[in-house]
Amino acid sequence: MAAREPQLEPNRIGVVGAGTMGQGIAQTLIRNGLEAVLVDVETGLLDKARERIAKGLQREVDKGRLDAAAKEKALGRLRTGTDPGALRDVPFLVEAIVEKEDAKISLFRQLDDLCPPETLFASNTSSISITRIAAATDRPERFIGMHFMNPVPVMKLVEVIRGERTSDATCRMTVALAVKLGKTPVEVNDFPGFIANRILMPMINEAVFALMEGVATREAIDTVMKLGMNHPMGPLALADFIGLDVCLSIMEVLHDGFGDPKYRPCHLLRRMVAAGHLGRKTGRGFYSYDKN
Ligand code: NAD
Repeated sequence: MAAREPQLEPNRIGVVGAGTMGQGIAQTLIRNGLEAVLVDVETGLLDKARERIAKGLQREVDKGRLDAAAKEKALGRLRTGTDPGALRDVPFLVEAIVEKEDAKISLFRQLDDLCPPETLFASNTSSISITRIAAATDRPERFIGMHFMNPVPVMKLVEVIRGERTSDATCRMTVALAVKLGKTPVEVNDFPGFIANRILMPMINEAVFALMEGVATREAIDTVMKLGMNHPMGPLALADFIGLDVCLSIMEVLHDGFGDPKYRPCHLLRRMVAAGHLGRKTGRGFYSYDKN
């Protein structure tokens, strides 16, 4: 059956993966009048996600940007569940699961069988080839990269990544959705790390090398970049915020994708990930955090 052109105004969006990014994407969708169907593998994770989203909206109420009734209405537009079957009737879905190519491919194969051919698929991958993930589905024309930044409710940028076979209609619809969410979409071609992480991650990796080599303390490294370069966060604090596992996966994609040793992940980064020190989400990374 030939798929119809995607509709221009989807108002119900599926989000797969309720971690740091999935929560932020779902919050931004419901805050902007859309319905979100958020799916993860465990109910406990979804309960936590709903709680964090409610807290995020409450912060807006406290700042006087949103009234309490609008917050409740927004939360009423959020559906959560562990059954991917709930995604069968969404016209557009965004995947935000772990940054592992095999996991994304296996999920999209499952979704490809489940969803009607006109459903548009977007991946929030930070670095993995959109063309390659799209090729695992029967809808490469309706497959695109929609790379939100962390924290999603705050950050304006969305990188829109066209795969080799992404259609113009898919691209137009993704750009329109980003604008509807109050974001600024920027179109980028499909190269490892796209633009954001091709530039950001080698900087973070270099900061980890500087720490490992004893060039300066973590605080000194972060202070130099904050005060000297006017960065709002130092690279080590930023790595903790992003998640050290995510940083390592992206460096591996750059290293494999370009085959250039300048992208080799720092050994200290590998060691911290192996030890389970993943940054804020585990309470410990380059700095320590209160888990609550
Ligand atoms: P995370 O580890 O916080 O969350 C991933 C979630 O996906 C977990 O809750 C996990 O249970 C769930 N999951 C795994 N497999 C699943 C499946 N098959 N079905 C449903 N849920 C599944 O990760 P994150 O930081 O939110 O990153 C998600 C994606 O967004 C990655 O591709 C990452 O590269 C990208 N990204 C991350 C950041 C960041 O700053 N953390 C920024 C931009 C993009």
